[in-house]
Amino acid sequence: MINIAVLGSTGSIGQNALEVARQFPDKFKVTALSTNSNIESIVKQANEFLPKFVCVGDKRFFGKLSGLPRNTKLLFGEQGLSDLLEERSISKVLLSISGSAALVPLLKAVKEGKSIALANKEALVMAGHLVMKQVEKTKASILPVDSEQSAIWQCLHGEDAHKLKHVYLTASGGPFLKASRSEIRRASLKKVLRHPRWKMGKKITVDSATLINKGLELLEAMFLFNLTSSQVKILIHPQALVHSMVEFIDGVVMAQISATDMRIPIQYALSYPERLKNLFPSVDFYKLKQLDFDKPDFNKFPALKLAYLAAEELGTMPCVLNAANEVCVEEFLKGRIKFIAITKIIGKVLDKHKNKLDFNLEDVLHSDAWARNQARLFIERERL
Ligand code: MG
Repeated sequence: MINIAVLGSTGSIGQNALEVARQFPDKFKVTALSTNSNIESIVKQANEFLPKFVCVGDKRFFGKLSGLPRNTKLLFGEQGLSDLLEERSISKVLLSISGSAALVPLLKAVKEGKSIALANKEALVMAGHLVMKQVEKTKASILPVDSEQSAIWQCLHGEDAHKLKHVYLTASGGPFLKASRSEIRRASLKKVLRHPRWKMGKKITVDSATLINKGLELLEAMFLFNLTSSQVKILIHPQALVHSMVEFIDGVVMAQISATDMRIPIQYALSYPERLKNLFPSVDFYKLKQLDFDKPDFNKFPALKLAYLAAEELGTMPCVLNAANEVCVEEFLKGRIKFIAITKIIGKVLDKHKNKLDFNLEDVLHSDAWARNQARLFIERERL
């Protein structure tokens, strides 16, 4: 039995993880659940899985939590997460808290030597070097959940990482793959949120429309697999079945192919090193007519250029890219700025940033706050 903590259990990945746990009641015991503010949903989840711990964003919600099971211990905020991560019985942590809020819990889980199924990419983008350095010092391991990183990870099993030449990071291309630039300029919120392949949370869906999601994944891959930016090639692949590929120095390419269903990489990260038989969809190659690949259009999707720029410079640039993006996406979702303003503002904030190549956690948090402030200042000028 694997005792798992699902942190960020009410989001899209968290719900899918619980779906996996539901299919394997003899394999996984859900020991902890957490949400920032989705109280109704976590009470329901807790009554189904009867976890030892539930952690919610803050004490304001206390009154709404009377429906929790009797033996579930209630915790609050960052401190609550930190306390439950100290719990010895929890061996696996699925980290699906969204955005930069995952950084502190991630560092704590690493410090505690946990096996971490990591669905959040922002924390790695912000502080990848610091996180990976800590991973080396502790017994922690990071098992990627993001479908592309899971693919790279699986392709590298049993291989000598030094013999790796390139990684092909595949991208479905999002809702605007075929759109003209003027269509993108006029993009409505509704269109942005209509992703052709994946059903995901709102933040990542917007990120997939600007393609900055692929830029964040470029950085994520660099930190996870110790790659340079020039080793990672982004490849448009609209069918989203090849989740990524690796090419070795002898020209051999390994691809990981599976149905477009997040439960598959989630399950693998949770059950690793074991593979478990499941009832999720699989690829029918007889029905599949073709697989397409194309070069991404960096002019149509300038967020990719910005991500490569941050990936070449590293230091605190990736953190700034991520923070400016988070603020812009929030404002876009509230209808306060246009879709194209997201990338434009990120570019301006990056331009203004004095990069710090040698950095600690304090520098990361400082750069994050600085970038959010700067983004807000630029947003004031772009407000609709
Ligand atoms: Mg992905």
